Amino acid sequence: MKQIPMLDLKLEYKYMKKDIDSAIKKCLENQKWIFGPEIKELEQKISEYIGVKHCIGVSSGTESLVLSLRALAIKLKGREYFDRSDEIITTPFTFTATGDAILRSGATPIFVDIDPVTCNINPENITKYLKNSSSNKKVAGLVPVHLYGQSCRMDEIMKIAEEHDLFVVEDAAQAFGAMWNGQKLGSIGATGAFSFFPSKSLGGYGDGGMVATDDDEIAELVQMLIRHGGKDKYNVEHIGYNARLDTIHAAVLIAKIKYIDEFNECRKQTAAIYNNELQNINGFSIPLTDSSSSASHIYHQYTLSVQNNKRDSLQNYLKEQGVSSMVYYPYTLHKMKVFNNGLSRVSGELNHAESACRSVLSLPVGPLQKKKDTAFVINRVKKFIETI
Ligand SMILES: *Cc1c(COP(=O)(O)O)cnc(C)c1O
Repeated sequence: MKQIPMLDLKLEYKYMKKDIDSAIKKCLENQKWIFGPEIKELEQKISEYIGVKHCIGVSSGTESLVLSLRALAIKLKGREYFDRSDEIITTPFTFTATGDAILRSGATPIFVDIDPVTCNINPENITKYLKNSSSNKKVAGLVPVHLYGQSCRMDEIMKIAEEHDLFVVEDAAQAFGAMWNGQKLGSIGATGAFSFFPSKSLGGYGDGGMVATDDDEIAELVQMLIRHGGKDKYNVEHIGYNARLDTIHAAVLIAKIKYIDEFNECRKQTAAIYNNELQNINGFSIPLTDSSSSASHIYHQYTLSVQNNKRDSLQNYLKEQGVSSMVYYPYTLHKMKVFNNGLSRVSGELNHAESACRSVLSLPVGPLQKKKDTAFVINRVKKFIETI
């Protein structure tokens, strides 16, 4: 039976085989595995692409968040880590790594509810939490997540940050190349955190990530923290990590970045077909797309909200038909043991986040997905609706 995967990485490799093979061959010939010339080349390319002064290659998207927060603690507080009394507001509807990075920086994550239309953090709920004067003074920063590749409402978020003197770290792990008001995501906050996990829009051949920033001091701190905390090995100032990006991953990413705009465009075209065919079918599904012109969406995931508790049966039906689909995410962070032990707090009800966990379903939207495969997915979703 025909199988439609979420993403076909083998096909992508075939598509750019020449570029990838020669990039890896060059690494084999050079034998410069740590801080080889490809690291700087990639950092420069991505700085230009995102529109920031500095980009620093790091070992994963998770580390790009941790390193951003550690550098901010050192810069703003003059301490290695935040305290538990320092609060950082984020969304409960994200990958674990977002909340985990806040814990690892020493701070307390505060989860506020999402906007049901985009599943991104709702700035109004941030304001609500800050208005509560007892909590007001403890908040140090915000970590908005551009979920599925769609921008958060950055004007409101940056305005709140300015008014309350908060830093913003953008979790742009799913949003490489997406924009807000013509500005690339990851270039708006104090730092932007990117992931090159293989399934991400700009995916490498292993773990990798990047910190983007305009701030010279933060850039210098991140550069130190990824190499054990010092400017050199025997002159260590901070509690550091071994969190470098490997040369071979940078080489692969340099080869792949040539295709990023083309691939993001392919995703958008597939999403436009889905949106057109799958919206408002008898109140069955809602595409999670912001219709405002400020937010661009690169559809790292194409996600529907399936109404009336039909999500799981749709997913099972699609599986029988050879169509892959995924639930991002089945649980909110505040329900997980690691966060649910006094190390984090929630602000108000998280009803929209909890209901999203029960309704979201992501459909295949790989950049090289054929139109006829997209049509097949749509056909099967519609067939399912006829049976209910
Ligand atoms: C993937 C992801 C991360 C973590 O990136 P890794 O490279 O897997 O460490 C963080 N936040 C979000 C929203 C992600 O999707």
